[in-house]
Amino acid sequence: MSIADVDGSGVGTYLDKEALAAGLFAFVQPDGSWGLSNAGLICSDDRVVLVDTWFTERRNRILRQVVLGAAPVPPSILINTHHHGDHVYGNGWFPESVVISHVETRDAVLELDPMASARRFQAVQFGETRATPATITFETSLQLHVGDMTLDVFFPGVAHCSGNTAVFIPQRSVLFAGDLLLKNCTPAMVGGSALGYLSVLQRLRQLAPQKIVPGHGPTCSVEVIDETERYVHYVLELAADALAKGRTPLDAARGASLGEFAGWLDSERIVGNLYRAMRELAAGGSQLPLDTAAMWRDTEAWLGRPLRSHA
Ligand SMILES: [Zn+2]
Repeated sequence: MSIADVDGSGVGTYLDKEALAAGLFAFVQPDGSWGLSNAGLICSDDRVVLVDTWFTERRNRILRQVVLGAAPVPPSILINTHHHGDHVYGNGWFPESVVISHVETRDAVLELDPMASARRFQAVQFGETRATPATITFETSLQLHVGDMTLDVFFPGVAHCSGNTAVFIPQRSVLFAGDLLLKNCTPAMVGGSALGYLSVLQRLRQLAPQKIVPGHGPTCSVEVIDETERYVHYVLELAADALAKGRTPLDAARGASLGEFAGWLDSERIVGNLYRAMRELAAGGSQLPLDTAAMWRDTEAWLGRPLRSHA
């Protein structure tokens, strides 16, 4: 269901509100490319929990409108799945909500520089960003109780970034995966771990969710876990080959066909993913810092233009 035409400019501007199961909603921003993330809502008669907010002031105002329209009461709790701007810049648009996140997500939110987003995506009108840091933090997991539902809020290990969190509701078999899972869209592990991704995917698979709300892209089911796993293996194989041949991440990315992943959105993430995977393999699995300025430069070189977001 299209319920809002955000800017009238065509593809990628519609917001979809999807009823997933009793008391559960997903707010999906097609097409799921850079900055167009999803949010989730968990409602009982008297308690509402929001999962993530959006990137720009304009979109967060719309999110607030649709959340208040769908929920019996305003959300008293807001869970951030991770610290990236397209998931936290709207926190402050829900002033009645207590923010909960992994402790490392809170630390990273405190360090966020909205000007970095503005420099990277120069055409985006951010308006006011309100990345309110968490009031309540956890390290491994916590449970919230909403009506007859238990929300398992848990950190499955580093994959997309440190602190990446998922929310599973066993009574409905629904998983809000944040950016650990993306549908029809290239996963990003440059800020996380390619090796760690494999064990995280295994943990998500064990939940056997019937429905998955990915961080970006349409709602889906467990096939997205298999697709992501194939992509991570592909990146690790390319990385090992590039290391053996003494190639740079950019050269390796330029030589990659991408195969079944070529049609996914934001395929330029192959460059950053190779930066991470090659660094990890060369360092025996350690998570060492990267030259992120060089990584972004090489990503734009691979793309042949600056990054773009339709947010
Ligand atoms: Zn995201």
